[in-house]
Amino acid sequence: MSDPVSRLVATAQGDAVDNPFRVTGVMMQYYYVCERELWFESRNIEINRENASVARGTRVDESSYGERSQENLRLGMIALDLLEDGRVVEVKPSSTLTEPARMQLSYYLWYLDRVLGVEREGVLAHPTERRREGVSLDDDRCDKVESAIRGIHAIVTADSPPEATEKPYCESCAYHDFCWV
Ligand code: SF4
Repeated sequence: MSDPVSRLVATAQGDAVDNPFRVTGVMMQYYYVCERELWFESRNIEINRENASVARGTRVDESSYGERSQENLRLGMIALDLLEDGRVVEVKPSSTLTEPARMQLSYYLWYLDRVLGVEREGVLAHPTERRREGVSLDDDRCDKVESAIRGIHAIVTADSPPEATEKPYCESCAYHDFCWV
């Protein structure tokens, strides 16, 4: 079995797989933020990560959803922020980097559907901005998630990181000095 998508599903379902493959929601998010950052992340290289992520607005502000932010639900490779009326809610402090957050949520919906056989709608919530956006797993999103899984596999199995390409958030990235000094 060589296709990373098939390997991921088999791994998640507990089948015997020669070369298990796992993708977390954070990996999906980083794939859309910066492929080089994903590679560093896959090697467990961490430098002052908390501050950098908060500065970029990619981490959940635990206080903005009050008590409910503690209702984190772990399901194999994924961890949902919370379920609300049967919908999967992904909470982000701001609407910067919306597409990475949208793809993280899309991956959760895909994982629920393909691995667990559960169809769900999603909501991307920005509590500090009082904004919410519905996310559905239509065919296009599904194709995008599976294409991203294959892309993530190519990156994390590479011997070296992708070349650095300048982005608006490089200054606040934990790996800045690995890329630009
Ligand atoms: S500094 Fe920029 S290019 Fe380097 S890992 Fe961070 S976001 Fe990516």
